[in-house]
Amino acid sequence: MTGLNYVIVGAGSAGSVVANRLSENVFDHILLLEAGGDENEISDIPGLVHYLQLSDLDWKYKTEPQANACLGYTGNRCNWPRGKVLGGSSVLNYMLYVRGNRRDYDNWESMGNAGWGYDDVLPYFKKSEDNKNPYLARNKPPWRTPIAELYVRAGVELGYPNVDYNSRSQREKERDVPRQKPFLRPANKRKNLHVAKHSFVTKILIDPDTRKVRGVRLHRYGKIYNIFARKEVIVSAGPLTVLGGLEGVGFVDTIYAEEPEWPDIEFHLLTGTFASDGGRQLRKTIGFTERSWRAVYLPIAFRDAINIFPKLLRPASRGTIRLRSRNPFIKPLIDPNILTQLDIQD
Ligand SMILES: Cc1cc2nc3c(=O)[nH]c(=O)nc-3n(C[C@H](O)[C@H](O)[C@H](O)COP(=O)(O)OP(=O)(O)OC[C@H]3O[C@@H](n4cnc5c(N)ncnc54)[C@H](O)[C@@H]3O)c2cc1C
Repeated sequence: MTGLNYVIVGAGSAGSVVANRLSENVFDHILLLEAGGDENEISDIPGLVHYLQLSDLDWKYKTEPQANACLGYTGNRCNWPRGKVLGGSSVLNYMLYVRGNRRDYDNWESMGNAGWGYDDVLPYFKKSEDNKNPYLARNKPPWRTPIAELYVRAGVELGYPNVDYNSRSQREKERDVPRQKPFLRPANKRKNLHVAKHSFVTKILIDPDTRKVRGVRLHRYGKIYNIFARKEVIVSAGPLTVLGGLEGVGFVDTIYAEEPEWPDIEFHLLTGTFASDGGRQLRKTIGFTERSWRAVYLPIAFRDAINIFPKLLRPASRGTIRLRSRNPFIKPLIDPNILTQLDIQD
C-alpha cells in the first residue's frame, strides 16, 4: 500500500480515537493496524466481561509466580487480560468511564511530558463527552442494580462523601459522564481510513541515515510486509508500551493517603461473585486452584452475593515487564512483584 500519511499500530482505546481524529482530514490517508480481529456480541455486555478473558480476543498474558500474591491461583500466577481485538482492552473491560485523577496527570507532566497536565487533557475529555457522538451520547446505564445505591449509601453512612469521581478533585459533585464506546464505528465509512485486522507489527523501520521512523514491518496471514508513512507512525499498541490503566467505582483517601484529593485505594463493587455460575466458566478464566475454589467459593456457588475488590492505586512494590526473547511472538516476562514492599499497614 502506498501514499499513506499515517500508520497507527494498535486499534485499542487510544488508536481508535487517533484514527477517528486524524481521518477527519480527508486529504490524509491513514492505515490502522490491529493484531486481533472483530469483537462479538458478548463484548457489549459489561457483566459478561470475564467470559471474554482467555478467548481469542485476549492476549492471555500471565504473571510470573508470585511469592506474596496470586496464591489462590494455579501456579501462584495471575491472569493479566489485555484485548487483542478491534477496540483493544476497551472491548473486554468493565466500561466504567473514569477520567483519572488530576494529580496523576500533573505528575506525568512534571516528569517532562509537556501537554499531559490535567488542564491540557481536560478539554479533550470534554470534547468526547459533548453528546454529539451517538455511541457516546448516553449519560447513564439504562438499568442500575439497587445494590449499587445501597453500596453508596453505606459509604456515606461510614462518613465518606458521595462524589463524582470524574470531577477535578474526584471529591466534588460535577456531572455524570457517558460510558466509553469505540470511536472507530462512526469513522469506518471514511474512504481515507484503512483498517487492517490480523496484522501483527513486529518492527518499527528506522532510516539508518536520518534516524527517523519511516514505517513498520507486519505479519499478516503468513506474509511479511513493510509499510511506510509519509508523515508519522503512531504506536498505540498498549501492552507493547505499558500494561495497566484506569478503572474505578469508588476512590478513597485512607488515613495513609499522603495528600488529600489523591485517593490511595479504590473499591470495585461487583454485584455477583466468581461463584455465581457455580464454577462453570468464571472459575476457569480466573484460574482458581481446587483448594481455593473449595475453601472460598464453593460454599457460595449459585448464591446471591457481592464482591468488593480493594485496589492499591500507588503501591510501594515495583514490578517489571521484560522481553523473554528476541522473537516478537514470544510473550513478555511479567513480574508485578505484588506486596513485596510494605503496602498495607494495620
Ligand atoms: C479486564 C480489564 C478491565 C478494565 N476495566 C476498565 C474500566 O472499566 N474502565 C476504564 O477506564 N478502564 C478499564 N480498563 C483499562 C482500559 O481498558 C485500558 O487502560 C485501555 O483500554 C488501554 O488503551 P490502549 O489503547 O493503551 O491499549 P489497548 O486498548 O489494550 O489497545 C492496544 C491494541 O494494540 C494491539 N496491539 C498490540 N500489539 C500489537 C502489535 N504488535 N501489532 C498490532 N497490534 C497490536 C492490541 O491487540 C490492542 O488492540 C480495563 C482493562 C482490563 C484489561
